[in-house]
Amino acid sequence: MLGGDPQLSGFEDPDEYGFETRAIRAGQPHDPYTGAVVTPISLATTFAQEAVGQPRHGYEYGRTGNPTRHAYQVCVASLEGAQHGFAFASGLAAEDALLRVLRPGDSLLLGDDAYGGTFRLIDKVHGNAGVQTAAVDLTAPEKIRDTWTPETRMVWLETPTNPLLTIFDIEAICSITHELGGIVVVDNTFATPYLQQPLALGADAVVHSATKYIGGHSDVVGGFVATNDDALADHLVFTQNAVGAVPSPFDCYLALRGTKTLAVRMDRHCSNAEAVVELLAGHPAVRSVLYPGLDDHIGHEIARRQMSGFGGMVSFRMHGGRDAAERVSAATKVFTLAESLGAVESLIEHPGAMTHASVAGSALEVPDDLVRLSVGLETTADLLDDLAQALTALD
Ligand code: PLP
Repeated sequence: MLGGDPQLSGFEDPDEYGFETRAIRAGQPHDPYTGAVVTPISLATTFAQEAVGQPRHGYEYGRTGNPTRHAYQVCVASLEGAQHGFAFASGLAAEDALLRVLRPGDSLLLGDDAYGGTFRLIDKVHGNAGVQTAAVDLTAPEKIRDTWTPETRMVWLETPTNPLLTIFDIEAICSITHELGGIVVVDNTFATPYLQQPLALGADAVVHSATKYIGGHSDVVGGFVATNDDALADHLVFTQNAVGAVPSPFDCYLALRGTKTLAVRMDRHCSNAEAVVELLAGHPAVRSVLYPGLDDHIGHEIARRQMSGFGGMVSFRMHGGRDAAERVSAATKVFTLAESLGAVESLIEHPGAMTHASVAGSALEVPDDLVRLSVGLETTADLLDDLAQALTALD
């Protein structure tokens, strides 16, 4: 929760300030004694009480609440335009906490392209607990009406999606879902709050793998949920404490440190990605490039409307099928062959064999000639030379 104590937040009304200022200051008090400008890593697992059942500043026990986590939650909630923010031990732990609002017999509509682990969590874990899932092509939001049943409670989507970079119209999807009485969760991992503000477009909750752009340096696994829905926030307060999938104080410190530079990093991720897209789009070995910034991308106009930049993720399909896709993924030197995304170093992967192996045979299966890039912050020319040599090596 944002918490109302300005002494603790150190920043009385974050909403008055711009994105970059809030990223650096919201929730991050200067130390009242030393003036230190960096939020400390608060390791205490328990907190002395004034009297029986009377904690001093709301902190009792480290799973329930922690000052470093509080600072981080206030900061990212502010960036998402949310009253409430909750940090979790991973993106999937954050997703799991949200999905626990569903009861056995409830049904969920999932956009038909999503991170493989999200599908696995929904299908194998919550599916076993009695939640039904239908995959829907949300590029046609009217399909929500066709698929809706009296048991449907929630629509879950990523935009841009992982790994196909499909764009879904958040406003249109929220409008139809709300009319039908459901709630909308948007996974904002790829866009980040710097490029896209789902809550302002009508979403009920935003979820993140903070492991990606929020942390930004491939050194912390984390998840986040932001919402303005008080009932959902109550559920999340309860679940965060009752289930206990919380990040450590050190993880919160790292994620908060990453958040401070989110805006400048995203600007460079976007410009480097645009240069990479230009190279790939003109290359004879490449069959098609999937990037919402391209004029001929099917979601380009929606992306222009709901995003302030097109992001650092680029996917492309190879002539030569799976073999060519695997070979190019293994032939780069600056792009590291690895899972994950959203950090300073550029990564390349084959989704079918790596991040999305768990969707094989499902409605979310990805093409096997697909390669996904997370374009990092290295020198632009080095990235272009590296991809050019990897593609040429195929000949
Ligand atoms: N959402 C998206 C879009 C992802 O790409 C991922 C992981 O790759 C997750 C959620 C899961 O996050 P985590 O790996 O932090 O559990």
